[in-house]
Formats: sequence, structure tokens, C-alpha cells
Amino acid sequence: MGRVVVSGGPDDAGLDVAAAVDRILSLAEHLAERSGGQTRLLPVTKALPLAAVEAVRLAGLSEVGENYAQELLAKAAAVEEATGEAGADSLDWHFIGRLQRNKVRRLAGVVALWQTIDRSELLDEVARRDPGARVLVQVDAVGLPGRGGCPVGEVEDLVAHGVELGLDVRGLMTVGAPGDEDATGRVFRTVAGLADQLSLPEVSMGMTDDLGIAVDCGSTLVRVGRALFGERPVP
Ligand SMILES: *Cc1c(COP(=O)(O)O)cnc(C)c1O
Repeated sequence: MGRVVVSGGPDDAGLDVAAAVDRILSLAEHLAERSGGQTRLLPVTKALPLAAVEAVRLAGLSEVGENYAQELLAKAAAVEEATGEAGADSLDWHFIGRLQRNKVRRLAGVVALWQTIDRSELLDEVARRDPGARVLVQVDAVGLPGRGGCPVGEVEDLVAHGVELGLDVRGLMTVGAPGDEDATGRVFRTVAGLADQLSLPEVSMGMTDDLGIAVDCGSTLVRVGRALFGERPVP
């Protein structure tokens, strides 16, 4: 595995790469133990310097999550330039942010898993630009305004539509109820139950503040930023 060269060395933008590698390794191990090997770790590097992505690679993980199209593309290009490894040979980039239809074309071929598909026009556009792509349907089982995700009642139709379009619908993704552990537990159990009913193997749920609940509710993929890299810089 080639090393990503980061300008400014290990303290680039205040990010201690060696410490981040340690935290990635120990959380990955803790998750594997606590879940009996069911839950894996997706480090989330949004708003962080390229050094965070380097830490993921040095820890030997192959998946990384980003929220913003522009930032994902810039980091993927930088990793490719530093290592000579393009696309899937380098890292599996997961898109986990709100997805705009007009960003799909540029992200196609770089994104390995589209986690935030929540309406049929996005399924149509991903199928058109990235045929056969791996996708998750994002569910909003909390019902707070301004958040991504389709209502629980639409999940089955969206999954069926994705399959019809030839997409590889791997599973469901959701976000818990901020600051409410009981509601978060209910949401995670609902979404895990839906994935089970639909025979979908992947359930992406849990972040820094609720990853323990997520593991106990059957998450297969926790998306973690702050627990690994510290607080994100304020833009
Ligand atoms: C930022 C983000 C995460 C990571 O959040 P942390 O609290 O830093 O662990 C996970 N999932 C989504 C959808 C995010 O936007």
C-alpha cells in the first residue's frame, strides 16, 4: 500500500495521524468483539485534512465516508496522485451526505457505495450515470424536518425500483434521534427490522454519539468521525 504524502508532516492541520491510526484500530477491534464480527467501522473524514484519510489507509481499512461531493472528489484525486491507485484499487469512498441530483454525474465511478438515496429520481440518475452501482436507501424514521431519508412507508417501493433499474441495493441507512437514546433505539430497531424483512444485508446506522446502541440493534456499518479524529474544524 502506497503512503499518501501529506504536506506539513504528521501534524498537518493539527491532526495527529499516529493517534488517529491507534483510535481506528482499537475501535474497529472493539466493534468486532462487541458485535461478534457483524459491525464494521466506516471512518468519516468530512471537513478534515487529507491526513485523516491517510490514517484510515495506514490502519488498513479500505472504506471511508465523505459528505460533500467537491471534497470527496478532491480527496480521491489527491490519494490517486500520491499512490497511483485509482478508484476501487485505492479506497472505497462512501457518499453519506445529502445528495443533489446534479452531483451524481461527477461522483459516478468514484463513489463505491451511495448511502443516501432517498427518492426515485436519485435512483434513476444513479442508474443512468453509474449502472449497477451499489446503493443504500436512506430511511428517516424520526420525522424531523430538514433531514434526508424517505418515510418508512416508502422503503419497500424504493428498494423495488432500484432493483428494477439494475442497481445493487445492498441495504438501508439511517440517522438516529439526536439526544434521545430511547427514540434512537426504536429507530434503529425499526430500520434493522425492515432490512431483515426485505432480505437486505447492509444496515448503516450509528455515529460517534450512538454507536453502542447501533451495534446492539444490529448495525453492520457505523459511520464514525469525532470519536476517531476529534472535533471537526469549524469552517
Ligand atoms: C458527519 C456524519 C457522521 C459522523 O458523525 P460523528 O458524530 O463525527 O461520528 C455519520 N453519518 C453522517 C450521515 C454524517 O453526516
